[in-house]
Amino acid sequence: MPTRQPLPDDDETGGLLRAMQQREDWFRAVFEGSAMGIAVVDMQGRVIEANTPFQRIVGRTAGELKDTPFVDLDHPDDRERNQAQFKRLVTGHVSNYQMELRYVDRAGEPFPVRLTTSVVRAADGRARFCVAMVDDLTQRTRAEEEREELEERLRHLALHDPLTGLPNRVLLAERMTECVTSLKSEPGSHCGVLFLDLDRFKNVNDSLGHGVGDEMLRQVAVRLATCGRPGDTVARFGGDEFIIFLSRVTGRDEALAVAAQVREVLSAPLELGSYRTYTSASIGIALTESTDESPDELLRNADMAMYHARAVGGSRTAVFDASMHKAVLERLGLENDLRAALARSELRLFFQPIVSLRTGEVVACEALARWEHPIHGRVPPDRFISLAEDTGLIGPLGSWVLGEAARQLAEWRATLPMAAKLEVTVNLSPAQLREPGLVDEVADTLGEHGLPPAALKLELTESSLVEDPATAAGVLRALKKRQVQVYLDDFGTGYSSLSTLHRLPLDALKIDRSFVAGMDGGTTGAHKGAEIVRTIVALARSLGVRVVGEGVESHEQLAALHALGCDFAQGYLISQPLPADEFAESFLTGDPPLAWREGHRFL
Ligand code: C2E
Ligand code: CA
Ligand code: CA
Repeated sequence: MPTRQPLPDDDETGGLLRAMQQREDWFRAVFEGSAMGIAVVDMQGRVIEANTPFQRIVGRTAGELKDTPFVDLDHPDDRERNQAQFKRLVTGHVSNYQMELRYVDRAGEPFPVRLTTSVVRAADGRARFCVAMVDDLTQRTRAEEEREELEERLRHLALHDPLTGLPNRVLLAERMTECVTSLKSEPGSHCGVLFLDLDRFKNVNDSLGHGVGDEMLRQVAVRLATCGRPGDTVARFGGDEFIIFLSRVTGRDEALAVAAQVREVLSAPLELGSYRTYTSASIGIALTESTDESPDELLRNADMAMYHARAVGGSRTAVFDASMHKAVLERLGLENDLRAALARSELRLFFQPIVSLRTGEVVACEALARWEHPIHGRVPPDRFISLAEDTGLIGPLGSWVLGEAARQLAEWRATLPMAAKLEVTVNLSPAQLREPGLVDEVADTLGEHGLPPAALKLELTESSLVEDPATAAGVLRALKKRQVQVYLDDFGTGYSSLSTLHRLPLDALKIDRSFVAGMDGGTTGAHKGAEIVRTIVALARSLGVRVVGEGVESHEQLAALHALGCDFAQGYLISQPLPADEFAESFLTGDPPLAWREGHRFL
């Protein structure tokens, strides 16, 4: 197809000739107008003509390319592969082929391309010439590399505790799951957990300050890391709680020996700046008895044993047995109470503002459930939500929260001008995601209160998406169809693969407060916290979603989040979660000077 002349052969009639000419014109238009590199190659594989993009991709002029074998552009190691395919093409075994290979530029640098070669035949079926189309993959590859790098960095950061550098609970869970699974094929083997809680840590923190508290945790971590045997995992579980996971253990004596080792390393005094102090730990031990304990059960059992050890005075070690479990359940006796609480309306919603970091305005609020127990007082949601999940009460509880949040928002929107565009976010448990009627319920609730879909955002944790990605994706898409947005809560704590996230229609990521907490000050932990936040913001940009920083407690954190390009912030610095009337008074009426805004010129 090198010239615009009418084709010399084959044509019997003018009609056919015209048709050929027309095809030729089309082809010419594609050839010149394409953004893709196209070369016309003769049946011997020599370049007849190459369009401008092709010349640019390979870095050679039309003159240089003319008559050169097109496989000469290939990296020597890829040439044979291409040559072989081309041969199959000219011999009529295939009519086209596609391959990824490396070309070599003028300077001898290899770069990746996708090559599609096909034969163009005349009306009688005779092969006339070949067309080689070349796609430069460098750009795509670089974007992929960047994403992989981000993923890798995030993974590392997400699996380690920023303060101590120890594996965090996510990595611990991974190791435990792996180990518990492999135990199933090794009858007679056990694994075990030592659950450590530092005695009187709260005193240190409260009296000597967080800085000293952090230093203490770091030093304890260094010492604990020397305990256990190869293959064991020493992790920070949260706060002043540490876990030593024993991957293989013959029985309780071996676990008790590790506990003794822990006491030994903790017995030496700690030098915390100008303070010299001592510490000790309460230790709970649980071993797999049968092979069907899940890592969660094992941790819960060890936690219970630790609780026991602490209850009898601390600085002790206790080994779990089943009677502890029952005792705890009975003591709490909360399940029946929770059932009644729903009926007796002991549940309330508190609201915490979410502000825009661009304008400083309160754009939304998160609805958080509270339980005023007639005897126990306020039961924290971390306790009763998990109880509701375990007992199947989460369905009715979740419905109540959704309905009440919608009702309250509708009331505010209708009565307070400042609330006209306010949005509310509602937390969903993994179990609610599995309820078949969820999407309809959400839509009905909105309808009932006359709210537009944009007024409601649902917060889901990573774990609920990872547990059953197919169901989650289905529900998310159904919600998306109804224009209800979904936020990913506690992001970074339950590392989920970016490729999964990429496929889910999410609208925002909420950066877990542990990362935000790690952002300020001059410690190594702070440095890592900032790095994680930066990485998450970059990730969110690449996914095209927005970012909410949670748990903002200081002006430094707020400024840092703003500097990193975070969209929204939430946390005690702005406000604690408040009862509805207090929330309205503070944020939806008049324009009270808000202390947290001071010193932030960007707001
Ligand atoms: P979450 O979704 O991560 O909610 C944010 C939690 O962080 C709230 O705790 C809030 O009081 C606390 N928080 C807010 N700002 C700060 C801060 O600056 N510093 C610190 N240290 N904490 C801050 P809360 O209300 O105790 O809720 C705990 C968890 O219970 C929630 O975590 C959520 O997972 C769950 N939850 C609460 N209400 C509901 C609900 O209605 N349904 C479901 N399924 N879960 C709920
Ligand atoms: Ca939440
Ligand atoms: Ca959260």
